[in-house]
Amino acid sequence: MLHDLRLLQALPAAVLVTQAGAIRFANAASMELLEAPSIDSLIGRLSGDFVHPLDQVRSTNRIEAVAVPAQGGRPNKSSEFRIRTIRGNLRMVLISSVAIEWQGAPAVLMCGMDMTHQSEIEAQLRESEQNFRRLFDNMQDVYYRTNAQGVVQHVGPGVRRVLGYEPHEIEGRTAESYYPQSTDRDAFKVAIMEKGEVSDFPGQMVRRDGTVIDISISSHALYDHAGNFAGVEGIYRDVTQRKNLERELQRLATTDMLTGMANRRAFLECAEAVYERSRSNGEPLTLLMLDLDHFKSINDRFGHLEGDRALVEFAQAVKSQLRASDAVGRLGGEEFGVLLPLTTLAEGMEVATRIMNSIRALQLTDDAGTTYRITSSLGMGAFRQSDRSLRDMLDRADQALYLAKRRGRDQIASLDAVDE
Ligand code: GH3
Ligand code: MG
Ligand code: MG
Repeated sequence: MLHDLRLLQALPAAVLVTQAGAIRFANAASMELLEAPSIDSLIGRLSGDFVHPLDQVRSTNRIEAVAVPAQGGRPNKSSEFRIRTIRGNLRMVLISSVAIEWQGAPAVLMCGMDMTHQSEIEAQLRESEQNFRRLFDNMQDVYYRTNAQGVVQHVGPGVRRVLGYEPHEIEGRTAESYYPQSTDRDAFKVAIMEKGEVSDFPGQMVRRDGTVIDISISSHALYDHAGNFAGVEGIYRDVTQRKNLERELQRLATTDMLTGMANRRAFLECAEAVYERSRSNGEPLTLLMLDLDHFKSINDRFGHLEGDRALVEFAQAVKSQLRASDAVGRLGGEEFGVLLPLTTLAEGMEVATRIMNSIRALQLTDDAGTTYRITSSLGMGAFRQSDRSLRDMLDRADQALYLAKRRGRDQIASLDAVDE
């Protein structure tokens, strides 16, 4: 028995033995829990005195219940009680009781664990869980998680707004179903497998109503405990508005506002790419350079505004003779470039002639009702294997244009021999 008591004394949990409600034994942990100056100061006091008034009925009921023979000496289920210490501090204590015999008389042994700190943690957890829920439910982005096979395991409520589906309609299906282009999904998979994560990865998805939206994905790969790929977790967001704005900015930066054609920079960039392709594939390529004749006098006669209108009509006349694969751009003031891929000089000559005729056929009328016509000079340049760069070809077309001007304007000239 003495040995048992020493064990109880050493127990890190608070232990009290009561008889008829009064404390007969208390261990060191009880003294600490109840903030008593000594163990002796606890002996003889009513254990109920330390229970918070709101928990007293429950406490008494439990102690009575544990003492009935039907309980058969089994401890009751532990339950939390608010305890007021001798110094008046409140503690949350998890208490379990059992009926015992103490010095030959029935007694109750109570064992308590201080849960005050745990309750705080729980409250914090609950609060952070609530915060997380609020954030999750109102998030503009769509959270998602897939397994290794690409089947969606979980998707956030944001998917209602972004794709127009309920989360449960998406869960259990593969993400592929929502990609209009499988190449997008493949590129994403490659990036995830190679780098383990992607950030602001571009793509497109189809909404329930069939509209295609631009999305940006930021995700990382998931691995199981053995290090095997186990799926992907991340977010995606609707960036259609941003993409539209980017496309619009791109259009503004590459388009000549007056004629709607590519501007000089965009035309030369495109020409560079077409030139490289022709060079590596050994395909023919022809370049036309056009400059309106005596355009200064058009401005002088009809005013700058009418000159602008004439430029627009001129641009339309040129475009009307071109294929979709041909590139056209405004190189400067009233000077234009046309690039004809897969076109020999002889074929280019036919296109050039058609263009010249459509310009000559233009009947322009100014605000006052005066009709007038315009003509243009055209210089041609054909791709040569000996050229070092696009620049050489551009220079030849430019020189040819100068030649056409010198020979009297309204005509085509070329430094390359048209031999077909
Ligand atoms: P040519 O080419 O036959 O030698 O004579 P030109 O008078 O056309 O030659 P030049 O290059 O000397 O003059 C081009 C004129 O085009 C000068 C400029 O006032 C006019 N021009 C350039 N850009 C614009 C434009 O955007 N709008 C209008 N209205 N005129 C322009
Ligand atoms: Mg001119
Ligand atoms: Mg000019």
